[in-house]
Amino acid sequence: MNIVINVDTPTFEQMKSTYQAPGTLPAGASFHAKLKGVTVTGYTKSHKVMFQGALANQEAARWQPNDAPAPSRSTPAPAGLPAGFATWSVLGSDEVGVGSYFGPLTTAAVFVAADQVASLTQLGVADSKKLTDPEIIRLAKQIMATCPVTYLNLMPAAYNARMKKYNQAQLKALCHNYVLAKTLERLATKPQAILIDQFVSERTYFNYLQGQPQIVSHHVYFQTKGEQAHVAVAAASIVARYQSLKAMDTLSEQAGITLPIGAGHAVDLIAAKLIRKGLDLNQFAKVHFANTQKACQLARQ
Ligand code: MG
Repeated sequence: MNIVINVDTPTFEQMKSTYQAPGTLPAGASFHAKLKGVTVTGYTKSHKVMFQGALANQEAARWQPNDAPAPSRSTPAPAGLPAGFATWSVLGSDEVGVGSYFGPLTTAAVFVAADQVASLTQLGVADSKKLTDPEIIRLAKQIMATCPVTYLNLMPAAYNARMKKYNQAQLKALCHNYVLAKTLERLATKPQAILIDQFVSERTYFNYLQGQPQIVSHHVYFQTKGEQAHVAVAAASIVARYQSLKAMDTLSEQAGITLPIGAGHAVDLIAAKLIRKGLDLNQFAKVHFANTQKACQLARQ
């Protein structure tokens, strides 16, 4: 099956970053990618994009917003949020890595303008926990190409140093506040609201931030499962997971072994291997986890 669609310049640029692939380009093409079930080619001058293969229809549909159901404006906002909140322009934040022994604590903030809500939702921006790694990579690149984004990778050594001074929830609060403040500074138009994927009560959150030079506090809302309340939080969770994946790759390279996520027994076994190799866990892992003691015991056996 062959499908050709015509797209506008921003969409064409977005597609270009999505479908970038190594290899030679066909004549006149800006990008050319062979995916499972579909080959995509974008032509520079005409902004025509050709989809070939069994999944051509499906893949092309992603880029044709008119075919997608618009998010319903009648959907009631979750408790505690104003009506119509999901369609507002929102700066959202989320973090990943808190429960994973190896790797950084990664926090991201993403600003989604009201007129981007539908297209991001249609691209498949949703809870990062429900997405596969390739989907995370594809979506994160699209989000970073189209939205103002700030992320903070607190790598293990830096994380461990701060955990001597703060508890984990406080450290999370400081990270959220940091990425939100950095993004706000760059926005010409202020968001209608800021939404934080909630991990402590509002009161505790602001208590944790006392004494900080810059505290983002205007129009701030908190929601557990914030990614369901606004696509900006879903986008932030995807960017955070993408940056965390990249950091895990770097750490795995440095360790000379693939570092698993989570905090289960597989993690203890790998941590024990690092100790036996003479590597310092402080550079790779959140050493306050109980995994450290278990790994030390295993390494002695
Ligand atoms: Mg969260």
